[in-house]
Amino acid sequence: QTDSDVVKRESESISSSRSLRNNAEKFEFQAEVSRLMDIIINSLYSNKDIFLRELISNASDALDKIRFLSLTDKEVLGEGETSKLEIQIKLDKEKKILSLRDRGIGMTKEDLIKNLGTIAKSGTSAFVEKMQSSGDLNLIGQFGVGFYSVYLVADYVEVISKHNDDKQYVWESKADGAFAISEDTWNEPLGRGTEIRLHLRDEAQEYLEESKLKELVKKYSEFINFPIYIWASKE
Ligand code: ADP
Ligand code: MG
Repeated sequence: QTDSDVVKRESESISSSRSLRNNAEKFEFQAEVSRLMDIIINSLYSNKDIFLRELISNASDALDKIRFLSLTDKEVLGEGETSKLEIQIKLDKEKKILSLRDRGIGMTKEDLIKNLGTIAKSGTSAFVEKMQSSGDLNLIGQFGVGFYSVYLVADYVEVISKHNDDKQYVWESKADGAFAISEDTWNEPLGRGTEIRLHLRDEAQEYLEESKLKELVKKYSEFINFPIYIWASKE
């Protein structure tokens, strides 16, 4: 039995509604990013599983970064739960939310704005072109835009993040050209790191099944150096 086979139980469900906070600060996606998201949202691509590979890979990168910093400054890891370098996946069948949490480096408010929407990476338009000719989304990660694959399975995504140098923020978007950012005063403090909540589309409810998630985590965690735990709500 490997770490990733472990399924834990919890009775608390995630508290979250399905609408953007209306007092949040609003931003427009950079045009090329918006086009990319449109294509992903409307894609007929059938191998939607890849979104989990991209999220696990981002969580692992973030954990690598904090671990690297901790080599010269142990303090950055914090104490107790916050210092655990692991990935947690939670399934909330009732609310139809799949969430993935890491205690990696996290993102400041500025990081959220830049990394998730306003600064297009050089690979963005190259990938849009490739998508239009081949329709093959599998290489998305290689173009540096893997995060947006979450919109293959979700129509509303929240990214909650806490970096050591800033407060906790929530980034949210329904992929309609805009995203919103608010200081997080309602969720549980993360300590440090990032939690991505996918509000799954009706067609993507299979990703709330423990067996499906276990299979995917097994497949995508082969080269990941951190334990991955799946938490499912009590039946
Ligand atoms: P890439 O991983 O190739 O840089 P992505 O589209 O997957 O491209 O992610 C974009 C950026 O968003 C990352 O480079 C990183 O800065 C940030 N990011 C995404 N997920 C996380 C996370 N879990 N923790 C910290 N930063 C993240
Ligand atoms: Mg990535």
